[in-house]
Amino acid sequence: MGELVAEVFDGERVRGLCRVRWRDGVIEEVAELAPDQAPDGPRRYLVPGLVDTHVHLLGFAGADKTRVDGFTWPLVTTREEQTLHVAANCRQALRRGVTTLRELSGDRVQVAVARAFDAGLLPGPRVLVGGPVGMTAGHGDLFTPPAVADRPPVADSPDECRKLVRTWARDGLHAIKIYTSGGVLSIGDQVGWRNQTRAELAATVDEAHALGMPVACHAHSAEGIAIALELGVDSLEHASQLTPAQADELAARGIPVAPTLLINDLIAAGRFGSSPEATAIAAELVTSRDERFADAARRGVDFVLGTDASGYFVRHGEQSLELQAMSRVFGWDAVRTLAAATSRAAAAIGLGERVGRVAVGLAADFVVTDAAPWEDLRVLDGDLEVVSRGAFC
Ligand SMILES: [Zn+2]
Repeated sequence: MGELVAEVFDGERVRGLCRVRWRDGVIEEVAELAPDQAPDGPRRYLVPGLVDTHVHLLGFAGADKTRVDGFTWPLVTTREEQTLHVAANCRQALRRGVTTLRELSGDRVQVAVARAFDAGLLPGPRVLVGGPVGMTAGHGDLFTPPAVADRPPVADSPDECRKLVRTWARDGLHAIKIYTSGGVLSIGDQVGWRNQTRAELAATVDEAHALGMPVACHAHSAEGIAIALELGVDSLEHASQLTPAQADELAARGIPVAPTLLINDLIAAGRFGSSPEATAIAAELVTSRDERFADAARRGVDFVLGTDASGYFVRHGEQSLELQAMSRVFGWDAVRTLAAATSRAAAAIGLGERVGRVAVGLAADFVVTDAAPWEDLRVLDGDLEVVSRGAFC
């Protein structure tokens, strides 16, 4: 049972002064009040907890990131130890107001942590886990050097794709991630490489949808985006080289896009010791990206918060910096930007009726501040007061 009187942004619009009451993690009342009904004391401001549709939780969570690089750490650390770092990364995001996270290269480790949070073993955000289905030498596979024998699974035929989707479903994962172009950080990768055949990709999408799992598609190149549109994926990740015609189609079909602005800017700038190859690829991708994305936003593309935060380039909890980048690149005011990080992001991952809005029947996940984030997004920088863990897992 809880109650707050605050100025409210409900995920879609600014509502003014409201009384919000919740019980057992579910919102029971959102009552608009007259301005003179404000309680004494400093004014408070409430927005829904943020939803990040694209993160990677498996990485060293300690403060001193210089001790080991992001590629090596997973190779030299046991699964048991990794699990604790996954939980710590989740909690870091929660302290900064991110109450729902979707992991997009997960497996049983992230599922174990999500279930521990759901069971109330320790405070943590809601975590949805997506499992990758990619080929040998694909973008996902190339994160593990060739000499390493114990590798994440790959799928190299339509049947293997179906089997891997089924394996992820059995392990309790919620979504599937596919790749229709190469990427930036993977070792020896090329953005222009084809990732899998049409038959393999179509088998994955068909099997995922048959098992109720949405498909998120990694694509940078226009060709990769075209294949994703043809396949009928449920969201696009990155979409750096989006064309105007593709933007129109995405808008018309209501397919959300996670733009991952900050990470590609940081890699392109050569920050944090990315390899010369990765720096060159990212620099190529971000050239003219902002112009293309501004145009796509005007055409109505549903850009949602998706950071690719991994703890290395974008840290967990730096979502507010991505929001500021979205506002700048898309030409959005803070209200529109917050909608992309709450109601629209929740809808993008299939949770639109559960989280992302301050409305009766939804989970009581809020960020409470002493200034209005819908007037200045920087209010969300740093640790925040967070009310979280609605009833819905
Ligand atoms: Zn990613």
